[in-house]
Amino acid sequence: MDFEVPEELRLLARTVRDFVETRLRPLEQQVEESDKIPPEVLREMGELGFFGLPFPEEYGGAAAGDLGYCLALEQFGRTSAAFSNIVGAHTSIGSMSIFLGGTEEQKRKYLPDLCAGKRIAAFSLTEPSSGSDAASIQTTATYRNGCWIVNGTKIWVTNGPIADVVVMYAANDRAKGARGGITGFIVEKGFKGFRVGKVDEKMGLRGSYTGELVFEDCEVPEANVLGGQVGAGFRTALGALDIGRISLAAGAVGSSEFLLELAVAHSKRRQQFGKPIASNQAIQWMLADSAVEIHAARLMVYDAAWKMDQGKRASLEAAMTKVYASEMASRVVDRVLQIHGGMGYMKDSPVERAYRDARILRIYEGTSEVQRMIIAEELLKQ
Ligand SMILES: Cc1cc2nc3c(=O)[nH]c(=O)nc-3n(C[C@H](O)[C@H](O)[C@H](O)COP(=O)(O)OP(=O)(O)OC[C@H]3O[C@@H](n4cnc5c(N)ncnc54)[C@H](O)[C@@H]3O)c2cc1C
Repeated sequence: MDFEVPEELRLLARTVRDFVETRLRPLEQQVEESDKIPPEVLREMGELGFFGLPFPEEYGGAAAGDLGYCLALEQFGRTSAAFSNIVGAHTSIGSMSIFLGGTEEQKRKYLPDLCAGKRIAAFSLTEPSSGSDAASIQTTATYRNGCWIVNGTKIWVTNGPIADVVVMYAANDRAKGARGGITGFIVEKGFKGFRVGKVDEKMGLRGSYTGELVFEDCEVPEANVLGGQVGAGFRTALGALDIGRISLAAGAVGSSEFLLELAVAHSKRRQQFGKPIASNQAIQWMLADSAVEIHAARLMVYDAAWKMDQGKRASLEAAMTKVYASEMASRVVDRVLQIHGGMGYMKDSPVERAYRDARILRIYEGTSEVQRMIIAEELLKQ
């Protein structure tokens, strides 16, 4: 067993870390206040290859594999959540759906521009009446005169309001549901009958775009059926969500590590009762517990990503990693805020922002309860 991260992947992580510190860190306040990422930064991220990290070079990717991708996401996790969100939704679930489920022609048509960040991708499954029970989607797809007519409304789509390419899932046969009744479609901005609806205001994730997508007799060419296979969509969506969950956990590790560094520095600096608060065991234990949990979550992320790179199925590991890392991140940010006292509650503190941002981790890409359902199902199947 070799726990060493390969040199080329460590180099990649260092490159992302430098970019985060020099380019993104100074933008945190601007992103928070404007609720936007400056477009020139997205362009730079595309030029640096940050939108195609796990994909092979033949499709324009950086060939960093899932482990390399997670190492990068860990670094993006150290700054405003908007950055790990746009990269994550674009790569792990949007573009990844095309990579995992697309035909060779679809991969060659869409992935190069997506990897270069010239086009932004989104993944759209959730609907007003279908969240955790994702197989119960109501959006329909009907074959008529050589193309598919899609009708329905999708909600809470990350990157949805700015996406050029949306991989969306619709029911071709509601009675069949997950088993042959759901098809993936590659929908481009500008397709007739497709529009962005309400853009959401959220508790946190400032700068991350989330919104409704409306399909009204939307005409999707037959060539845009994902993988050319009617009814095969749900399997692809679940496959993309596996890597989505692991990379989301990687971001949680990065943000928690950054917060712990802030807490260590603050507790050594802040004096109460004539000594640094770090000299109190109550504070030290919060630091120690956080370090232990971050270490455990990081090992889970690396293990799950490595397994995926070996071509092994890792749905169980993905669910375990997601539930552990997302709940860990909530505990860590809570302790770090406690250590900062009133200062951590103030709007100009990165801890206040991180506290709001951490909450979503236990909800999207499958709630904590859903992850436990997946884990229990796998256990009971064995
Ligand atoms: C900011 C944000 C971004 C998002 N981005 C995307 C995106 O890009 N693409 C996309 O498709 N979706 C996206 N989503 C949707 C997200 O994946 C769903 O919110 C999530 O899957 C949960 O669904 P729900 O919110 O409808 O909760 P519900 O399914 O209504 O669940 C409500 C509560 O009931 C619990 N529950 C439900 N069923 C069970 C059960 N059987 N046993 C025990 N407890 C249960 C849940 O765990 C939860 O606590 C996003 C959501 C948000 C908030």
